[in-house]
Amino acid sequence: MEQEYFYYQIRKEKEFEDICLRCGNCCGIQDDPCVHLVEQPEGKYLCDIYASRQQGKQKTHSGNLIKCVFIREILYKDWPGNWNCAYKKKQ
Ligand code: SF4
Repeated sequence: MEQEYFYYQIRKEKEFEDICLRCGNCCGIQDDPCVHLVEQPEGKYLCDIYASRQQGKQKTHSGNLIKCVFIREILYKDWPGNWNCAYKKKQ
């Protein structure tokens, strides 16, 4: 039973992650992106430290600080390009 629940959680996490459009808007791509945001060949964006990222301060390309947070913590807020966020649309 524990193992079933473990795999259930893994599936649910993947379902949640797959919702993301990888647009990069929540990581500042519209103005001053986080240094860890990397453009992919197909025009999407990925975080190069996603699996081990620490919540909190990260640097942007211009040297400013940006706060890295879980997307669920900012869904009620606005950010440049937030109209396109798949999680916001799903709310
Ligand atoms: S704004 Fe939403 S859809 Fe776009 S990368 Fe961030 S979480 Fe994913």
